Amino acid sequence: MVNSARIRLLEGLLPNHCALCRMRSYRHLPLCRPCESELPANTVACEQCAIPLAGANHLAASRLCGQCLAHPPPYDRVIAPWLYGEYLARLIQRWKYQRERHLTPVLAHLWLKKAGRRTDIDLLIPVPLHWRRRWHRGFNQSELLAAHLGDHVAAAGGLTPDLRTVKRHRPTAPQSAMCAAQRKRNLANAFTVSRPCDNLRIAIVDDVLTTGATAAALSRALKQAGARHIEVWCLARTPTPYI
Ligand SMILES: [Zn+2]
Ligand SMILES: [Zn+2]
Repeated sequence: MVNSARIRLLEGLLPNHCALCRMRSYRHLPLCRPCESELPANTVACEQCAIPLAGANHLAASRLCGQCLAHPPPYDRVIAPWLYGEYLARLIQRWKYQRERHLTPVLAHLWLKKAGRRTDIDLLIPVPLHWRRRWHRGFNQSELLAAHLGDHVAAAGGLTPDLRTVKRHRPTAPQSAMCAAQRKRNLANAFTVSRPCDNLRIAIVDDVLTTGATAAALSRALKQAGARHIEVWCLARTPTPYI
């Protein structure tokens, strides 16, 4: 307990120490290059849902997974540059559950490093938390990430995350222990869109995509409001679908 408090204090004073190995990072971010190079990239993935493709699948002309071919999700594209491996899981869990907000620039850097600057997005929407969970956690991690990513959208002056268009109007149970069907039921009608989104190209920002149930529920609501194109920007994709 004392040790972890001391480590956190040291990190605050010396932000150039790596959040994973605790060594000097020798850069402006609290993540050293050797640790960064250990993170597994999501390079061969479905073009729509970003699930990693194995074996001969990635040689197919369409580069779509069987699930997207059979039942296309309501979002048009997922950008998930990393796999949710051990190191990234550690960073994300500390950021999210231990409230280490100073890790936000590291996570934004990791997304931007692979995804680059985007030009064709009108609205950036962080996945909203219900107000009660936001109050309990003290922040919405997707908002923090979206604020950093918005600076790099190539609109004039970047894009400020939109926090008004979508509301999560009822609390949903924590989803981490649920199967895909339970997640879908849990999220039915969880989001309301408060204004027309006619013809807009929208990016939804989330931390990790697991089954995609949250992104799908939100995308469905936005498409019903008129959105033309929906992308999901998240850090990582879980390597296998949670069934
Ligand atoms: Zn390191
Ligand atoms: Zn797919």
